[in-house]
Amino acid sequence: MKLKEKKCKYCKGVFTPFRILQSVCSFECSIYESKEKADRKKAKEWRKEKQKRKEALKTNSDYVRELQTIFNKFIRLRDKGLNCISCGKPAKKENAGHYRSRGGNPELAIEELNCHLQCEYCNTFLHGNLIDYRINLITKIGLEKVEWLEGKHEPKKHTIEELKVLKEYYKNKIKEIENKD
Ligand SMILES: [Zn+2]
Ligand SMILES: [Zn+2]
Repeated sequence: MKLKEKKCKYCKGVFTPFRILQSVCSFECSIYESKEKADRKKAKEWRKEKQKRKEALKTNSDYVRELQTIFNKFIRLRDKGLNCISCGKPAKKENAGHYRSRGGNPELAIEELNCHLQCEYCNTFLHGNLIDYRINLITKIGLEKVEWLEGKHEPKKHTIEELKVLKEYYKNKIKEIENKD
């Protein structure tokens, strides 16, 4: 039985295989092909190793920063379609705006009640536009929760392990929302 012509995996030349599953045209091409395969494997292993070393060098604040980025993305997705929490207009550029500032209240930086969709103008140029933020926040979550946010909060510093868990948690929540659409 004569096998059907196919393209050599290495040189792309057309050839007639004499074995089923033969993917290269010649012995030479098979040598080159396996060398390339080994190189690809090595390169992949090296990328993995580099990633591992990079992870190992990451500090607590690196993880805090990464978590904040993921959390903010989650807030923007959670509030998609809502108007700016402060001015009530559709946000041209969507920000995740904290009611109690992250700088002043780091313990509320990853608190869902404390972070809502905000337009960039209110967030950046009006420094949160907090008076209107408060009014609309009371409508959204109720006075009791707003007063809780305004109260005193225990400082908390997450360990790297805890930060990793939180990152996973919010990554999954993002996936859930994205899969719904
Ligand atoms: Zn070939
Ligand atoms: Zn606004």
